[in-house]
Amino acid sequence: MPSPILAPRGTYDLLPPASTLRAGLEARMRDVATSFGYGEIRTPIFEATELFERGVGEGTDIVEKEMYTFVDKGERRMTLRPEFTAPVVRAALEHKLFAAGPQRFFYLGPIFRYERPQKGRYRQPHQVGVECYGYSEPEAEVEVIALAWQLVRSHKIADARLQLNSIGDAACRDRYREALLSFLRPLAPTLSEDSQRRLERNPLRVLDSKDPRDGEAVKNAPRMLEHLCDPCREHFGAVRALLDALAIPYDVNPQIVRGLDYYTRTVFEIVSNSLGAQSTVCGGGRYDNLVASLGGPSVPAVGFAMGIERFEMILSAAGAAPEAMRRGVQAIALGVQARARLLPIALRLRERGTAVFMDFADRKIPAQFKLAERNAARAGLILGSDELEKGELVVRDLVERSEVRVAIDDIEGITTALQRMGV
Ligand code: ATP
Ligand code: MG
Repeated sequence: MPSPILAPRGTYDLLPPASTLRAGLEARMRDVATSFGYGEIRTPIFEATELFERGVGEGTDIVEKEMYTFVDKGERRMTLRPEFTAPVVRAALEHKLFAAGPQRFFYLGPIFRYERPQKGRYRQPHQVGVECYGYSEPEAEVEVIALAWQLVRSHKIADARLQLNSIGDAACRDRYREALLSFLRPLAPTLSEDSQRRLERNPLRVLDSKDPRDGEAVKNAPRMLEHLCDPCREHFGAVRALLDALAIPYDVNPQIVRGLDYYTRTVFEIVSNSLGAQSTVCGGGRYDNLVASLGGPSVPAVGFAMGIERFEMILSAAGAAPEAMRRGVQAIALGVQARARLLPIALRLRERGTAVFMDFADRKIPAQFKLAERNAARAGLILGSDELEKGELVVRDLVERSEVRVAIDDIEGITTALQRMGV
């Protein structure tokens, strides 16, 4: 017997009901982005490798180690997208969208990174994110942060923290670079191999490293916030004031620099303790030079990317949340006769858009409840011989464990009861 073929390392299959929960989560993410006036953009899963080399930047983890790159049959170097921002800019330039003024996009889909698989780290993770182009004003950061925060808040994630920093612009970052270099050079032998290699070219990268050796070295490093030029300091102050006015809580964290080359001024992350070592669920900031560096006009930009798997990890650590995401109805009939009565009701509910699961194998009630669990159904529609005799069925909330009785053919009554249960 040949050995079975397994999914590639670092990938996973998404099966029901987890896939149903994922679809629900994605739908709510789309709703939040739409409510902020962002339109969905879908770009190809692969792009010319050069797009990421230029857009993400050489000397980044992504470009140095993590890209899935191949040569196609036409001898072109192609890369499975490791992030969405560079492709979104590419598409906006290709369709000359920037000529029409500010643009707001959101995206949702898989990215590909050749990483060492571990908890919260995959080779085909999924991201949701937004891009807001055309505003250098601090309101743009605040809108994007408020959107990310709304995603977190709408799921009542209590332990999420927003971390904020400014990494300045071309005017002040060079001076900071020099100060950081002078500080780090004597410590070079104690740094990780990656950081030693990147030190001269991009010392900021060392601040973002996950290697504990680097963490130790940068503890007392000079801080960008103390080197900001006046316009950058003013801008950061304005972002903070607007966040305060919206009562969005944050910590200023001078360690945050983000791993990509294109950021300017504001950078932020949303972190959660329930994620363990992979504690960041969302990373973003301003990147005013990216569009120009990809050959476009000078267009300021702000955005973030959020890891969907990590978001799900936080939700399941929060416990109650998956219950709230349960959807649909398990139609539970006892015996052939009851099944015959319940089947048309299931169909009529489905016509109205309610998901209904039904078993045909004459299983006992507890076994059918188990199926309801497996389907992550929110409610049960129960028809046994007693109920059949009385012409009623039981509508049961499988989360709250409450129930009501409704006449079997009273579709309106059944629908109302289900709606009350949040189906
Ligand atoms: P990390 O520091 O965890 O490697 P990153 O800085 O590479 O993250 P970004 O490129 O900014 O992350 O991506 C934004 C978000 O996408 C991350 O905060 C995370 O939630 C998610 N993400 C990135 N890479 C992975 C991965 N390999 N597996 C799961 N989620 C990921
Ligand atoms: Mg990474």
